[in-house]
Amino acid sequence: MAVIRERRLPYQTLTLELPIPTSTIAARPLDCCPPSVLNPPPRPFLSDLDKIKILGHGNSGNVYLVRHRLTGVLYALKTLSANESIRRRQISREIDIHRFADSPTIVRCDDVFSTPSGDIALLLEYMDIGSLESLLHARGRRPFTEAAIAAISRQVLLGLSYLHSHQIVHRDIKPGNLLVNAAGEIKIADFGVSKIIHQSFDTCVSYVGTSAYMSPERFDPESYGGNYDAFAADVWSLGLTVLELRLGHFPLLSPGQRPDWATLMCAICFSEMPEMPDTVSGDFRDFISRCLQKESRKRWTVEQLLAHPFVVNRDQTQSGRAFCELISSFRTTE
Ligand code: ATP
Ligand code: MG
Repeated sequence: MAVIRERRLPYQTLTLELPIPTSTIAARPLDCCPPSVLNPPPRPFLSDLDKIKILGHGNSGNVYLVRHRLTGVLYALKTLSANESIRRRQISREIDIHRFADSPTIVRCDDVFSTPSGDIALLLEYMDIGSLESLLHARGRRPFTEAAIAAISRQVLLGLSYLHSHQIVHRDIKPGNLLVNAAGEIKIADFGVSKIIHQSFDTCVSYVGTSAYMSPERFDPESYGGNYDAFAADVWSLGLTVLELRLGHFPLLSPGQRPDWATLMCAICFSEMPEMPDTVSGDFRDFISRCLQKESRKRWTVEQLLAHPFVVNRDQTQSGRAFCELISSFRTTE
């Protein structure tokens, strides 16, 4: 079935709503590429894409698996409803960040289209295993091994390091926004609420992202003087995400507990560090405690975490293999 026939937005010339300081953004390596890379096969038109199935629903729209009829290449097509001006601003940011991000740790966006109904569609590289959330769900929420989690942590930290070094904060790190492919790569996706910041403390505190993974200073900004370290807030979300993979459930609530706003507020802002089973290693416990410091100043930075024993004191080949085994067992149970 043919998907929508629409206009391709000039991806390279989209209006940048938030100017990114050129000094902070690495130039895309186009200038130094060989001629074969400078003349890649033409990008698909939207009318050349066949819709196969829905991959996910989000706050902003649907994500479809699509196949390019001429080449057979699979993509994920994320449609974004752009009917309100606030949404248009968010979409513009999402596109801007995809446009600049050039790292194997970030989901690649190959093109941007506008639909006749005024919506926007992002043509994304297809991550064929899905998100860490869907992977956890497919395993019946059976915890991941620490070796696999070490491989995941390292890759996500490398992605965050790339973003933070370019003054980009993600603001919605969670298992559903970390995507996996069959090669065992984990990439950061969904820049719908991300932001390019121009100072280390974000003075414009906005309640965006997924509340459950928000740090205390984002959840309750008034108690923290109205501004916060946006980079440290990403680290909190990473810590919760990693711990969720180890426990098999959202760490701040009991398994199956349905959160309302007040319960989440108490859990995030006032509760102690979540209980961990005795089988958890000292390195893992310490790694989590560095991420989940309630006071953002005490949280480790992404660079510090990349040098944490939980990440570096492991045989990377072995932990990468552990993650690939976990994926392959998932694939066989599909
Ligand atoms: P939310 O608001 O729930 O975070 P969203 O509307 O911003 O979602 P995404 O998080 O980008 O949308 O995508 C929703 C889901 O679609 C993901 O959790 C994932 O399961 C699937 N998905 C998104 N992009 C891809 C991709 N490139 N490859 C495979 N699956 C994808
Ligand atoms: Mg998402």
